[in-house]
Amino acid sequence: MPLVGNLIGEDHVNYVLMYNMLTGIRIGVSRCQAKIKRPLTIEDFTARHKFSFDIVGNELTPSAKYDFKFKDYAPWVFRTLREDIFHLDPADYLLSLTAKYILSELGSPGKSGSFFYFSRDYRFIIKTIRHSEHKFLLSILPQYFDHVKENPHTLLSRFYGLHRVKLPRGRKIHFVIMNNLFPPHKDIHETYDLKGSTVGREYPEDKAERNPRAVLKDLNWIHRGKALDLGPEKRALLTEQLRRDAEFLKSINVMDYSLLVGIHNMQRGNRDNVRRNTLKVFSPDLPNSLGRSKTASGTGHKSPEAIAMRRAMRSSDPKRLGKHTIRLPEEDIGDRLQLIFYQDEGGLRATDEANEGLDTIYYLGVIDILTPYSLMKRAEHLWKGLKADRVSLFIFCGRAVDHNVGTA
Ligand code: ATP
Ligand code: CA
Ligand code: CA
Repeated sequence: MPLVGNLIGEDHVNYVLMYNMLTGIRIGVSRCQAKIKRPLTIEDFTARHKFSFDIVGNELTPSAKYDFKFKDYAPWVFRTLREDIFHLDPADYLLSLTAKYILSELGSPGKSGSFFYFSRDYRFIIKTIRHSEHKFLLSILPQYFDHVKENPHTLLSRFYGLHRVKLPRGRKIHFVIMNNLFPPHKDIHETYDLKGSTVGREYPEDKAERNPRAVLKDLNWIHRGKALDLGPEKRALLTEQLRRDAEFLKSINVMDYSLLVGIHNMQRGNRDNVRRNTLKVFSPDLPNSLGRSKTASGTGHKSPEAIAMRRAMRSSDPKRLGKHTIRLPEEDIGDRLQLIFYQDEGGLRATDEANEGLDTIYYLGVIDILTPYSLMKRAEHLWKGLKADRVSLFIFCGRAVDHNVGTA
């Protein structure tokens, strides 16, 4: 992944936006979190909570550095997704996203013009999305919810929140919060964004040699003779989950997604240490949910702020927390450990035919799933002649399954 960060100071073009996004998340999410847990209703899928921030502040929203509006979409649905389906620790989530020194900016890796921001601990990604993607996610939220509930091992992007910031002059920025597929503690030596198509799907090989963080594509995969090395067990599990996820995407008319594959070579280890050397961070001074304007410094599980927040949440009326109590750091099992495809150091270790471990860890997931096959896309596909050129995505798992992508 092309992780070249910028230092995000107050003079940075996106400083105000980031400050507002994070302040909104902090206040919006903690407000929702403080309420008594209850079962979801159908209305929760269309609910929206609005917050108005200004320099003065009021009972609902503490004073902020800037004037802006924040909208939290389907907050109960996302809370349920985070806690019950994806097993995130609520205090961790808020802290990761809003503690001091938290975000690194990655220009726009895709062509869509979206921006990606990583939480400081590298677990979460904020991606700005188009209004059409935003509307689409809301429209399929019930189906998405059912799918991830029924498929705890889904490879689809895990959406943790959907929000909007509106700046004083009316500019609206929509964004989602999702899982980062790549681990904080391992170098990724090769990255592939695979669509199961070959048209225009090549990153120039000569450039790739100079840039180890390039995101390579289908033709690079094919020309390099790559395949996922997985023994029969893992291969069967992965193929089956991919089949179900692809089936779901097809049912909601999404066909332009990618299988993202990050490869960590255990022999090479982490000596390149690319990320840590280039990462620069944003250090906001956010108001906290209690209305004070300063945040305590510190990140991660054991920071004084984390412990204080957990204590505060624990010591309040237990009913307010529902049955999903906050785990203490030592009880913290993390959100990936029990998941098959993320069980080996956050990823999936390669195995040979006898299921013996090999020296490679794969970090896999299906990303960019918010663009339905609309008229515009259809025109583009026809024009590019994708129809005749589509190959099975499942070829990448070493077993071809008819995938039927792009043949509408
Ligand atoms: P486009 O629509 O032009 O394909 P986009 O702006 O919608 O691009 P994505 O396709 O979602 O962006 O992502 C672009 C790149 O960012 C991916 O190829 C991958 O390298 C990285 N990326 C995206 N999502 C994740 C994720 N969840 N975890 C790790 N890396 C990611
Ligand atoms: Ca994409
Ligand atoms: Ca996209």
